[in-house]
Amino acid sequence: MRIQSTIQLKKGKEFSIQRFHPWVFSGAIQKINGEVSDGCWVAVTDHKNTTLGFGHYQNGSIAIRILSFKEKPGINFWVDKIKNALQLRKDAGFPSDKTNAFRLIHGEGDGLPGLIIDYYDGVAVMQAHSVGMHVDRQEIAEALKIALGEKLTSIYYKSHSTLPGKARDASADEYLYGMSAVPHVIQENKNKFYVDWEGGQKTGFFLDQRENRRILGDFSKGKKVLNTFCYTGGFSVYALMADAALVHSVDASEKAIELTRRNLELNGFEPNIHKCFAVDTFEFLKEKKDEYDVIILDPPAFAKHREARHQAVKGYQRLNSEAMRAIKPGGIIFTFSCSQVVDRQLFYDTIVSAAIQAGRDIKVLHHFCQPPDHPVSIFHPEGEYLKGLIISVM
Ligand code: SAH
Repeated sequence: MRIQSTIQLKKGKEFSIQRFHPWVFSGAIQKINGEVSDGCWVAVTDHKNTTLGFGHYQNGSIAIRILSFKEKPGINFWVDKIKNALQLRKDAGFPSDKTNAFRLIHGEGDGLPGLIIDYYDGVAVMQAHSVGMHVDRQEIAEALKIALGEKLTSIYYKSHSTLPGKARDASADEYLYGMSAVPHVIQENKNKFYVDWEGGQKTGFFLDQRENRRILGDFSKGKKVLNTFCYTGGFSVYALMADAALVHSVDASEKAIELTRRNLELNGFEPNIHKCFAVDTFEFLKEKKDEYDVIILDPPAFAKHREARHQAVKGYQRLNSEAMRAIKPGGIIFTFSCSQVVDRQLFYDTIVSAAIQAGRDIKVLHHFCQPPDHPVSIFHPEGEYLKGLIISVM
């Protein structure tokens, strides 16, 4: 790849890069030597011109996303990165005879800030969050073909809603290689799910809840389970698989409810032990009392940036206190937050506030996090976004 220019940092701004944090904020820049354009490759040096790394430039608060520390990226850069990521997944047991869908590239956690790739049994769904990844999409697609070989049947590029400004306008969601009909059936812990990367949310399926759904099975036998914010009905399928007495699924989107219905049918469940409700969760919970033994709260990110954090916390508090009020005494709540800006401690404190508000005695049984195919660089704690708790409500 062509390194378009060199960017020199202010004195003292080299430390975070030397510690492998991949972001350079615009305020750290001393001087730009040469021309830069959004998405181009640049070299980064300290104030004495010692090279620190190479990465994508983008005009904005995060001005450079480092992709290679110290070494100049060579011809095999993308292939090596994808192969390394694939090896990490193999080490963690993906794919297996039970599960054929996993996250192959998780941004900073795989040393590729700005890039997400989910793998659905032969289909790679690629999502660029930075202009640089958009510019390099064809090279990444070629590298995917080499790294995955015959297993790869198609690559779908879906970045229209994740790219900023001009790049977004210029980007179409399209196949970069092959073509696969949607929905596509994947297997997760032997359960089957339809995935529609073209019409669905994000890349089509929330792979990050795989282990947490499996744990729900342990709590579901003979229980009345309410799955709110159900989307594809992932938690509902696992609860029924574990012989729940009844499962109710709630989502504000009709499309999501339809997908849940189809997924339950795909796994062979009769409609009589399962009901779907296309309504707002807050409205639904209001009228409930002592009806459910287990409630799952897995809302979308209430805060996408720091300024929205306070409102988000209030949202989590209201949601959780409503569920604590509604659940049967002795009931279990699985509660999650996928807001990156609400960290683990803040989420925990919010659940404490909700408990105080609900006036219920509560025990914490388990802490949730994201699975190993969503790795977090230890130098980039911002990558840890999924958190949750199992609580028992007396
Ligand atoms: N639990 C799901 C993922 C949830 S994604 C899984 O395991 O895959 C969040 C879902 O919440 C989306 O499907 C969205 O349609 C739904 N949603 C957003 N706001 C809502 C609301 N106020 N009430 C009910 N559903 C809502």
